[in-house]
Amino acid sequence: MEEKKTEGQKLYEKLAFKSKNIWEHVSEEYKNEAFKFCEGYKNFLDEAKTEREFAEKTRLLAEEKGFVSLDEIIKSNTKLKAGMKVYRISKNKTAILSVIGKRQVSYGVKIVGAHIDSPRLDLKPTPLYEDTDMALLKTHYYGGIKKYQWVAIPLALHGVIVKGDGSIINVKIGEDENDPVFTITDILPHLAADQMQKKMSEGITGEGLNVLFGSIPYCDEKVKEKVKTNILNILNQKYGIIEEDFISAELEVVPAFKARDVGIDMSMVGAYGQDDRVCAYTALMAILEAENPDKTAICILTDKEEIGSVGNTGAESTLLENFVADLCALSTDNYNEMLLRNCLRNSKMLSADVNAAVDPNYESVFDKKNATYIGKGIALQKYTGVRGKVGGSDANAEFVGEIRQLFNKHGIIWQTGELGKVDQGGGGTIAQYVANLGVEVIDCGVPVLSMHSPFEVTSKIDIYNTYKAYKVFYEE
Ligand code: MN
Ligand code: MN
Repeated sequence: MEEKKTEGQKLYEKLAFKSKNIWEHVSEEYKNEAFKFCEGYKNFLDEAKTEREFAEKTRLLAEEKGFVSLDEIIKSNTKLKAGMKVYRISKNKTAILSVIGKRQVSYGVKIVGAHIDSPRLDLKPTPLYEDTDMALLKTHYYGGIKKYQWVAIPLALHGVIVKGDGSIINVKIGEDENDPVFTITDILPHLAADQMQKKMSEGITGEGLNVLFGSIPYCDEKVKEKVKTNILNILNQKYGIIEEDFISAELEVVPAFKARDVGIDMSMVGAYGQDDRVCAYTALMAILEAENPDKTAICILTDKEEIGSVGNTGAESTLLENFVADLCALSTDNYNEMLLRNCLRNSKMLSADVNAAVDPNYESVFDKKNATYIGKGIALQKYTGVRGKVGGSDANAEFVGEIRQLFNKHGIIWQTGELGKVDQGGGGTIAQYVANLGVEVIDCGVPVLSMHSPFEVTSKIDIYNTYKAYKVFYEE
C-alpha cells in the first residue's frame, strides 16, 4: 500500500526544483522516435566529419527541401515573401538557412546557431618528411585536445588541395572500408619508463603528433629520400599534385571510426565531433521542417568556434549581420540601416552548443547542484566563461524566463548547469558575438561525455529532445 504523503513532502514537491530523467517521463513512442532520429544523425556524422563536409551536406539537404540560394534571389532582383526558404554557404565552410516569417523582419528574427568545426589535427604547410625509412606528416593541432588521446588510433585524412593552376582536389581517405587509414604511433609500455614519469600534458607533445603515412622506398640508388619520393609519386599519380600544393591545402586528420551506439540498451551515441555537430544537426533538422513561422527563422552554422570564432568564417565576423541585412533589404523597397539595427535589437537566439555532462569517473570537477547530466534534456546555460565568468556570455534573466516558459509550455524537458566547478576551468561559445549585435542570446544544447575527445558520447533522448526544443523555438 502506498504511504500517504505528509504536508512537508507535498510542499517540497510543489516548491523545489528538480530535473527529470527523460526516459522515465516519455512514452514508448517518443523513445522509438528518438532512436529513429538518431539513425539519421549517426549517418550524417559519418558523412560530415569536417566543416566543409557539413556545409556541403547542408546545401544538398536544403536544396532538396526547397531552399533557394539567397545570392540567386539577389541576382534575380526578387523580393522575399512569407514562407520562402533561402540559404547561403560562405567560403564552403559555413551555412545560414532561413524561412521567411509572416511578420516583418523589423519585429526581429529567431536564430539557432551552432558551430560545425571540431578539434582535430591539421597538416602543416610542409607536412611530408622521411625518417627511419618511413614517411610521416607533420601536424598542428586545432582547438582544445588532450594530445595523448590521438595516438594509436586509426585516423582519416579529409580536406581540399588547391593546385598551382587553381583547380581543387577533394580528399577523403580512411572512411571507406577498403581505404587505408593512418595513425600516430606511441611507444610500447616496456620502453615507456621516461614517458610515464612525465605529466599527462607532456607525455605526448605537439611536435610529436606526426602521422605515419607510408614505408615503401622508391627503388633508385641515386635518390636521397626514397620513401618520400615514392609517396610524392603516389600522390602525383592519384591527385596530380606536387609537394608545393600542400601549402595551399586544408587537410584535416580526424578519427577514422564511425558513429556507434553505446550501451547494451543502445541509449547513447559515440562518435567524433559531436561538439558541436549534435547541436548543428538538431538545429538543421528543425529549420528544414519549419513551415510558415510567425517570425523569420534562421539557422546559422559557423566555423572556427574551437579557436575563438575568429576569421571570416567565424561567428565574430559579419556573416550573420550581412545575411540579416540582406533579408531586410529584400523585404522592403526602402532599406536603411535602422531597419537592420531594429531587427537585430528585437531578435532572439538559442546559442546551440554542447555542455559537459557529469562524469561519474570525474565527479569532483563538477558542482553537482549546478551541472548537467546525460538523459535529463536540453541544458540551458545562463552564462559561460572562466574565472569569474570572464570571456563568456550572460543571458538576461528576462530572456532566460521567456525560454523556460516556452519549454515548459511545450513539454520540453530541460535542465540547467555550468561547465564545471568555479575556477576549475570553463569555456565560451558563439553566444557573445551574436549578443554584441543586440540579440537576446542563451546557450542551450546537448550534454556530452568525453567532450573534445576522438569519441564523444551523448544520450539519444537528449538529442531528440534538443531537436524538439529548437523546433518549438522557431514555431512559437
Ligand atoms: Mn562547442
Ligand atoms: Mn568545443
